[in-house]
Amino acid sequence: MKKLIVANWKMQLSYQASLDLARKYSKKISGLKKEVVICPDYLSLPIVATIIKKTKLGLGAQDSAAVTAGAYTGEVSPVNLRALGVKYVLIGHSERREHLHENAAIINAKILAALAAKLIPILCIGERLTEKINGQTKDYLAEELRRALKNVKIKTAADLVIAYEPVWAISTNKNAKPLGAEEAEEIQKFIKDRAVKILHKTVRILYGGSVNPKNSSEFLKQKNIDGFIVGGASLKVKDFSLIC
Ligand code: PEP
Repeated sequence: MKKLIVANWKMQLSYQASLDLARKYSKKISGLKKEVVICPDYLSLPIVATIIKKTKLGLGAQDSAAVTAGAYTGEVSPVNLRALGVKYVLIGHSERREHLHENAAIINAKILAALAAKLIPILCIGERLTEKINGQTKDYLAEELRRALKNVKIKTAADLVIAYEPVWAISTNKNAKPLGAEEAEEIQKFIKDRAVKILHKTVRILYGGSVNPKNSSEFLKQKNIDGFIVGGASLKVKDFSLIC
């Protein structure tokens, strides 16, 4: 499978800035050996879908509802995202866990709903600084995986992606710094092995957390790093194209 590079624009851009950035991506990032996916906010998704239609860029959403339809004011159905041309959806990003109180049960339901809608969930997991300091990283990740993937069945290895994003390494956190590539590799392998036991498929495991043009090649040399989620650096087309 190709390496997968996911741009997470979060809620950082105005509507107009999202469209402008999508146009720049379309010009600068094409014909790649890697699979590149943009996750704009919901509002700009339909127009970004049109802008990138003739390119090789793929479309992702930053979240989707835990059910496919119903009386859920304000939620967005994974079925409608699929109909719009969305292929991937981030589920369980640490910012949603922290600020929107998403718990393991919600994340599990979102994964099941996304799969039912034929979207590819990108399950985000990662320890916080507390678990890291207390030497509990692997136990914490194993538990996150177990609960998020409860009753999840996939047909092929391409149907689901996992992203390891140590929360303390995400660039918007105070004193954030990326994990060393070799340390990341050890944890990526741990996650891959655990995921195989649960899913019976070798899914792609991405790394995320302060990835930039300077450190990206070192990460990509690692055997168990199958791509990235890029936040801050994805807002600058030059940096992001260098990473790609
Ligand atoms: C993220 O929040 O998913 C992320 C990887 O952010 P950054 O690259 O800015 O650390």
